[in-house]
Amino acid sequence: MGKNSFGAAAKLRAGAADYHYFRLSQLTQQGIGDIGRLPFSIRILLENLLRNEDGKRVTQQDVAAVAGGSGAGIKEISFMPARVLLQDFTGVPCVVDLAAMRDALAAMGADPNRANPLLPADLVIDHSVQVDHFGGVDSFDLNAALEFQRNRERYILLRWGQTAFRNFRVVPPDTGIVHQVNLEYLAPVVFRNPAGVVYPDSVVGTDSHTTMINGLGVLGWGVGGIEAEACMLGQPVSMLLPPVVGFKLSGRLKEGCTATDLVLTVTQMLRKKGVVGKFVEFYGAGLSALSLPDRATVANMAPEYGATMGFFPVDRETLEFLKFTNRDTALVALVEAYTKDQGLFRTDETPDPVFADTLELDLSTVTPSMAGPKRPQDRVDLPGVRQNFHTAFPNLPAPAPGTLGHGAVVIAAITSCTNTSNPSVMLAAGLVAKKAVERGLKVKPWVKTSLAPGSKVVADYYREAGLMTYLEQLNFHLVGFGCTTCIGNSGPLPDAVTQAVRKESLVVAAVLSGNRNFEGRINPLIKANYLASPPLVVAYALAGTMDIDLSADPLGEGSDGQPVFLRDIWPTNEEVVATVRAAIHRGMFEHEYAHVFDGDRNWRSLAIPEGGIYQWDDTSTYIKKPPYFDHMVDSGAPLEDFHQMRVLALMGDSVTTDHISPAGSIPTDSPAGKYLIAQGVQPADFNSYGARRGNHEVMVRGTLANIRLRNQLAPGTEGGVTRHLPDGEAMFIYDAAMKYQRDGVPLLIIAGKEYGSGSSRDWAAKGVLLLGVRAVIAESFERIHRTNLVGMGVLPLQFQAGESAASLGLTGEETYHIEGVAASLNGGGRTASVRAVKADGTEIAFTAVVRVDTPQEVEYYRNGGILPYVLRQLAG
Ligand code: SF4
Repeated sequence: MGKNSFGAAAKLRAGAADYHYFRLSQLTQQGIGDIGRLPFSIRILLENLLRNEDGKRVTQQDVAAVAGGSGAGIKEISFMPARVLLQDFTGVPCVVDLAAMRDALAAMGADPNRANPLLPADLVIDHSVQVDHFGGVDSFDLNAALEFQRNRERYILLRWGQTAFRNFRVVPPDTGIVHQVNLEYLAPVVFRNPAGVVYPDSVVGTDSHTTMINGLGVLGWGVGGIEAEACMLGQPVSMLLPPVVGFKLSGRLKEGCTATDLVLTVTQMLRKKGVVGKFVEFYGAGLSALSLPDRATVANMAPEYGATMGFFPVDRETLEFLKFTNRDTALVALVEAYTKDQGLFRTDETPDPVFADTLELDLSTVTPSMAGPKRPQDRVDLPGVRQNFHTAFPNLPAPAPGTLGHGAVVIAAITSCTNTSNPSVMLAAGLVAKKAVERGLKVKPWVKTSLAPGSKVVADYYREAGLMTYLEQLNFHLVGFGCTTCIGNSGPLPDAVTQAVRKESLVVAAVLSGNRNFEGRINPLIKANYLASPPLVVAYALAGTMDIDLSADPLGEGSDGQPVFLRDIWPTNEEVVATVRAAIHRGMFEHEYAHVFDGDRNWRSLAIPEGGIYQWDDTSTYIKKPPYFDHMVDSGAPLEDFHQMRVLALMGDSVTTDHISPAGSIPTDSPAGKYLIAQGVQPADFNSYGARRGNHEVMVRGTLANIRLRNQLAPGTEGGVTRHLPDGEAMFIYDAAMKYQRDGVPLLIIAGKEYGSGSSRDWAAKGVLLLGVRAVIAESFERIHRTNLVGMGVLPLQFQAGESAASLGLTGEETYHIEGVAASLNGGGRTASVRAVKADGTEIAFTAVVRVDTPQEVEYYRNGGILPYVLRQLAG
């Protein structure tokens, strides 16, 4: 704990127990700011600083500045979260890196066990289950068996990590989705450490949607895997104190509207407002009309609205949810006592905090909505969806009625933590299914249907409500407890559908209850992806086409020969509420979470390697020792300028981390596919890039290999192709990068706005580093991705406002020189000079902003990234 310079250390009695804590009101008493008017989220940051004030990372001045409400957007603070949350796609590389770090420490003569989590870390295995089987009662078992078969090597590593590391727990596969498990079980809301000190729970996670936990009053957001590793090893998160945008809610949702409609509306509004790098905090009397799961749904999509997180303070509803989900009585008493004492408990009478900016939504104005076909912020009112599809994909010939043609919905997936954590929308889907079955409707034969809840409790309440049978009659059988379609693990389409789509180049669609719909994410054959509430997913499965106005056209013909409209089978809010009340009870949470770390027979029977140093298996194609520490020197390398750089890729706006490091399937003829075949892996066993993140050989070959990537250096191509310069030969980006590496040519990436948006993905930074990229110049960067680049020692540079590759006349064929980096990072300014020299010797000169934003980031960059920095600290 810290120095307690403000004398804030105190004792708190809650229930029958006494705890130590740091009182925020002490600051008010000393005249340091009006804590009661700070946004709740900032009060939590303030408590963090107050408790960790050590005179070095956190100073008295830091505490005073934040308490005084100053410094937003400019002041750097060191935030130490209470815990770290991982999922398996990002968690496997974390464990691989920790294992490699132990090797490196041993090689340096230091104690390898120093590479061990200092903060509690939980890893939930949820990203690996794929929908290979659907539409049958055995789909779940068959998919789980395949999952184990494919991921055995990764799971052995994770089980080793579970025994080799202290403070590290693993929730086994087929148990639930990380954010839903966090919401329903892991998050304590108020954290009790072994020394009896209590403080607000807070979490950083390696998944962007870690933000969902803000619905429970827990401050949390996504960070890159490398940042999370550093955090686990005791490094604070270095961040600029964020401005807080207040989002006032009033009224209540009207009949027929769901939490999904609300979150799509909120996402659109906040995208328009522009909240990148900011906290959003919800306030106003409308909060009392939102259930905890509705709040979690809204908090979940913070990455889609661009904010660091969207916060809902603790209130009466939070306490009720904790009781309902079977949190222990002493904890609930502590949460209530602590948050009330600290001014962290909201009621409708609480004075509104003072925000940097505000906006407002009357919940009664929300309308049924979807978002698509490519971006989550592109909300469209339900009646406008047909037109939206036709506008995005004009002049498609209309299919014959009742046949698979353009606009067909070929995937309808009830998936994703965003919605499956919300009983109202899930049970509404069940009720729609029931009414549809009763009217004699059937799902169209070309639709791949799936139900993948985020916790086992969902299956329990579907059965309790008697609705599972109706979902199954519409082929929405349980396929897994995990992310599935939401992460792109939608599995192959049925052969007949695949052939028809390929043969006729059909533009087909997916409708899913997820939160991401970038091109190429859901399935390589699907161009249009629409986000929708679970009941609308069922409705589109019945319709089987996007070429329909569900508000006016019939879904189909009932068994009585009469048309059946969506309004005929849509449940009333009252029906939904009554079903929720009748079908869910506390005992379900008690039962399902009692053995949450045990896993099934497959998991328990895995043979775990022994010892604190991991025994790397040279024959493994999933887990390989990464090269980051192979060339460690005693101190950080001097900061250098870059000369004679070549551009590996020149891209436009909104290049996502999925473009840079795809998570989905590995094409056979790609560099990664060829590598796997050379290792004796059959294409059927390729698994996904996401599942192969423990093997850098696969990942570096998959970098910038998204099938939808458009590199302007190779015009007219789609996929990971570039032209090697100066010869101009077209080749895979990986092959070109290796050729450049052999010739000692440093590489550069040039991009437009929002470079690195989408899911937080450390491989999008690790991969470009291993390709030999030393700098990225973009018009703007997504927050996490920029920090990941710095964390891997890759220099992010930003075009000056109003400038871009196009405005400067850059084609990417030039040779680049970046100068003044050291002077900038040593405090001599914020810009570097860039010279682009054309083949004829003429030059385009410009300056770019060096986006190494904080002194701590400068230290990371100076050391070649976070991992070498931390390793040097651990080695002493
Ligand atoms: Fe999984 Fe999707 Fe949730 Fe991410 S957003 S954790 S992929 S369900």
